[in-house]
Amino acid sequence: KVPVELTNETVKNFSYDEQKDWDLLRVALTKYTDNGALDIPLIIDGKKVYKENTLPQVNPAKHSQVLAQVSQASEEDVLSAINSAKRAKSEWLRTPWTDRAAIFLKAADLISTKYRYDMLAATMLGQGKNVYQAEIDSIAELCDFFRFNVKYAEEMYGVQPIKSSPGVWNRAEYRPLEGFVYAVTPFNFTAIAANLVGAPALVGNTVVWKPSATAALSNYILMNILEEAGLPKGVINFIPGEPNMVTDNVLEDPEFSALHFTGSTQVFKSLYGKINSNVAADKYRDFPRIVGETGGKNFHLIHPSASIDHSVLSTLRGAFEYQGQKCSATSRLYVPNSIWSEFKEKLIAGVETITIGNTSDSSTIHEFMGPVIHEQSFNKLSLAIDEAKQDSELEIIAGGEYDKTNGYYVQPTIVQAKSKDHPFLKNEFFGPLLTVYVYPDNEFVPILNAIDSTTKYGLTGSVFARDRSAVRVAEEALRYSAGNFYINDKCTGAVVGQQWFGGARASGTNDKAGSGNILSRFVSVRNIKENF
Ligand code: GLU
Repeated sequence: KVPVELTNETVKNFSYDEQKDWDLLRVALTKYTDNGALDIPLIIDGKKVYKENTLPQVNPAKHSQVLAQVSQASEEDVLSAINSAKRAKSEWLRTPWTDRAAIFLKAADLISTKYRYDMLAATMLGQGKNVYQAEIDSIAELCDFFRFNVKYAEEMYGVQPIKSSPGVWNRAEYRPLEGFVYAVTPFNFTAIAANLVGAPALVGNTVVWKPSATAALSNYILMNILEEAGLPKGVINFIPGEPNMVTDNVLEDPEFSALHFTGSTQVFKSLYGKINSNVAADKYRDFPRIVGETGGKNFHLIHPSASIDHSVLSTLRGAFEYQGQKCSATSRLYVPNSIWSEFKEKLIAGVETITIGNTSDSSTIHEFMGPVIHEQSFNKLSLAIDEAKQDSELEIIAGGEYDKTNGYYVQPTIVQAKSKDHPFLKNEFFGPLLTVYVYPDNEFVPILNAIDSTTKYGLTGSVFARDRSAVRVAEEALRYSAGNFYINDKCTGAVVGQQWFGGARASGTNDKAGSGNILSRFVSVRNIKENF
């Protein structure tokens, strides 16, 4: 039995009176801002490889501040990372699974204690989170993934053929995949990166890891913590680099066995396509497993019977926490005409209370929103806002300003669309931009159909209603519109072990992060029958 309780890591709430927490946090923030840019190496076969070719990681809240110079893998480095993963495999797969588990349990403990403030500081500075968003991600969710995965693994290994006959013993061996796993991880959650590399490694795989350029600092610290926890060399190989070059080289290898991906739908599609054409060309030994979580165009549907105050607050949180940069963020809102004027008034009043600033700077650390992650994202959002200003089918009802003088700041912006199939209700912007459509009360059923068919995504969505029959009708009509469906709650904030996370359609393969299912994608079971 693994000595781990299935309880979620406690989220420190950083209340104003807990001065000690703030002091520790400030020390950690200073460590990463006042000592010049940190040189981040590749880590291949347990060795740090510093490259001349580096890319700066800047603080998106203050882009003049370079946090790190991140070594960029060359083609040769990618090949050596692959070879390192292959070499480490035979010993790692023979390591008793409880020893592998101990490494992840220990890493979780190190993160929740010794390195808590380093993880927070790196996630706040590099990824533009406020302390609360960093805490629920880089501490709570990350530790939960490591610990719950251990429990899930224990359960999985315990599942055995249910029948043996006299003189026969049947058993299942949960082998890791025969080749290596390629993990491509996103900027927006340090915890997701941890799970994308940690889940396959826990069940005996070795991993080539391409972190996001804009999360290199927190991800590098995580890699160091895993090593301190006892991760053997070569089990996870950390290679920041130019994404296309790294991917193209990795996908050429015959021993590529799985992709574990979180990122944009567009990139996932292209990787999926390349893998499939390589399969058709007989490039691989295995049919690679492809596990991906991508984008969303997530809805809040308000029924006339809903509590207005509760649904307004939930919408503000769903749309604007972490600047709307969660795949799960609320980005379209449907409100019935009968309550729209009160709803709108409260929504706008709420948006006006949202403060924006550099959430890793002492003087603005309490602001609700920070910057968006980088210039491309800023440009995409500012362009969309400009379009909204021009488009007679759209009206900006809140926000609408942006400024990149010091950091990549975009105001929380709400746009009202006149038609229910406007592109703003279809396309993902990945930022603090919410589009609302006001529907006639007697068109609840048609609006369900519109929600279901307007976009290609199917990640998260919520219905707000006190009327049970409305909930039932929505649940039925929106069966495939969201892999995470919420009733009277915001559509973000899935908790490991509580809400399994993921969606289908253009949102991914829906293998459910935070559930045991993810582990089963990275094992290849051997059935053994023995006659006595
Ligand atoms: N699991 C997160 C949530 O439920 C979102 C993850 C993501 O952005 O990919 O809000």
